[in-house]
Amino acid sequence: MTRTVYVNGEYLPETEAKVSIFDRGFLFADGVYEVTSVLDGKLIDFEGHAKRLTRSLNELDMPHPVTMDELLEIHRELVKLNEIEEGLVYLQITRGADADRDFVFPSADVPATVVLFTQNKPGLADNPAAQKGIKVISIDDQRWGRRDIKTVQLLYPSMGKMMAKAQGCDDAWLVEDGYVTEGTSNNAYIVTQEGTIVTRQLSNDILHGITRAAVLRFAKEAQIKVEERPFTIEEAQNAKEAFFTSASAFVMPVVEVDGKAVGDGKVGDMVPRIREIYLEEMRKAAV
Ligand code: PMP
Repeated sequence: MTRTVYVNGEYLPETEAKVSIFDRGFLFADGVYEVTSVLDGKLIDFEGHAKRLTRSLNELDMPHPVTMDELLEIHRELVKLNEIEEGLVYLQITRGADADRDFVFPSADVPATVVLFTQNKPGLADNPAAQKGIKVISIDDQRWGRRDIKTVQLLYPSMGKMMAKAQGCDDAWLVEDGYVTEGTSNNAYIVTQEGTIVTRQLSNDILHGITRAAVLRFAKEAQIKVEERPFTIEEAQNAKEAFFTSASAFVMPVVEVDGKAVGDGKVGDMVPRIREIYLEEMRKAAV
């Protein structure tokens, strides 16, 4: 089955979809994105992603080319056309294509580029890594200072994943001034020996994860103590458990940090419990 994608108002076979070589997303990484997961053919936390998209566009003075209702409609149509039961919807909005390459933003009449496509991922919620746990390395956080805006400039995170792979690991946690900011494409957490969840507080230093917000809400509802503060790699290595969250991996246990086992090196009790609560609640609220 050929995938149907959405480009600027049209549903097209992926092979016929086109974007200009002058698109500012291509030339300047002048664009924002969102990734929403699909379970049981429904969108997980669409509202959270739509709200963050609005915020990203506002922070970059970009126009809002589609309403939230239209966006929901496009997401649903793509899920339907591509028969997605489990998978992802990727959305990207760029500042469009001016007549030429110019650092100056184009005038307001240059239309934004809106692209959406689905990724079919059967077994997304049954990822075996959630049973086994994953290994991370730490690397210096060399990204720009507005990580709260979900832009498409993902070269350094991509390089971070490659550095992790080169060391036989799955991902990298980024460290700035001695403290973990977040993972290459996820938010990072530890569970202390006392059973408190610790994750960095929101600021411009990290992406305000949609999964993070939900997980912290559910943790508090389950009477689990939450501390929003920075933590070090050493603290993670001495923690009881560790994990990360993202819209596509949900809640993922981390069992090794820089070659040192977290706890006994096996997936603990708390992280699978949080993952289960998260998946159950989000499936119930899916649209
Ligand atoms: N931090 C970064 C740097 C990310 O790229 C992502 C995923 N896009 C996250 C955190 C997790 O955010 P969310 O839970 O909204 O997917």
